[in-house]
Amino acid sequence: MIEQPEPLDIEDQCHLALRSVHAFLHGELGESEADQIRHHLLACEKCMDSFDAEEFISGLLRRCYGPTTAPATLRVRVSQLTIRWQAH
Ligand SMILES: [Zn+2]
Repeated sequence: MIEQPEPLDIEDQCHLALRSVHAFLHGELGESEADQIRHHLLACEKCMDSFDAEEFISGLLRRCYGPTTAPATLRVRVSQLTIRWQAH
C-alpha cells in the first residue's frame, strides 16, 4: 500500500532532508530543492546536528582523498549516523 500524500510531518521532512544531504553538499540539487533543505536545516536542530556531522566527515575525507565523490566508507559512516539519529 502506498500512503496517501498528506502534509509531511516533521519526521518525514527530516527524513527527506537527510536523504538529500549528500546531493546538497555536492551541489547536485536544483535551486529550489537546495533551498528547501537549507530552510529545513535552519528550522530543525536535529537535522542541523546531523548535517554538521556529515559535512565535517565529508570535509575530512575531501582533504584526505581529494575532491572526488565520497568513498564507500563515508556512505557507511553517514548511514550509521542517520540510523543513530533516527533512534532518538
Ligand atoms: Zn529535521
